[in-house]
Amino acid sequence: MTDMPLPPADADDRRAIKPVICYPNETLPEAPVALYQAARETARKIDEVLIPARDARCFEVPAGQFFRISSVEGPQVGDLNLWNSKDLRERFFSGKTRALHGTHITSGERMWTCLPTLRPMATIVHDTLGWYGIDGYGGSVHDVIGTRCDPYTGNLLSGDQYHYCCHSNLTRALAAHTGMPPHEAEPYVHDVLNVFMCTGFTRDTGQYFMKASPVRPGDYLEFFAEIDLLGALSACPGGDCSSEHSSDTAACYPLLVEVFAPEEGALEGWRSPSINGYDRSHGLGG
Ligand SMILES: [Zn+2]
Repeated sequence: MTDMPLPPADADDRRAIKPVICYPNETLPEAPVALYQAARETARKIDEVLIPARDARCFEVPAGQFFRISSVEGPQVGDLNLWNSKDLRERFFSGKTRALHGTHITSGERMWTCLPTLRPMATIVHDTLGWYGIDGYGGSVHDVIGTRCDPYTGNLLSGDQYHYCCHSNLTRALAAHTGMPPHEAEPYVHDVLNVFMCTGFTRDTGQYFMKASPVRPGDYLEFFAEIDLLGALSACPGGDCSSEHSSDTAACYPLLVEVFAPEEGALEGWRSPSINGYDRSHGLGG
């Protein structure tokens, strides 16, 4: 870079300032994970959906039930969208989930809805990859930093017309499930939870990276539905994301979604979270 400005005399002092956590979570209402796990013990499977490789499907999970995303057949990552099944405008807020919990999420952490509702929509109750932690490259699994692979970025970078990116897969799945035409469904597709995907940012250039997912058949990520959910999951054309996405070259496998309903009374005392308590007057008076 030719126009790099010269550092000021106190540059090192400025860089040495310790960071402050933006959102300390001590006051974040804690998920009653023990209650959820006890309820899960009595739950029985009521539904399953197999997500074909390089495609997506929708599934519904009423509040108070569980859903599990499993790797089957081979290592595969999935791009997950979640909506309030009664109002698709209320959807997963990847950015705020990242700000609250960090770049990758695991057991006990939550997926939050967008503004103005900002409430928990799903809580992770079991993660068989919870052992992975953060590797030597700064990579970890289940990220909320990526967006979803999409044909527009592919076109921007290489002029392609590829139709099986997660964005398109999710669009087709939502259109098929709701009966909306695809161009009406598309704006509801949003930034995902990258299930099983192993990602991070390079320390030297700050670039988003992916690497082969540590997921193996039998691994799963399980959620408790805090509100009535419509989900859509895409089995990414990147497969395990060890080399590339947005093409048909990577080995791809299906993903399995299963829904479990706990026994009557197993969630004694639990209530689906209300929408956020901010009064929405924005300084203009009540
Ligand atoms: Zn993808």
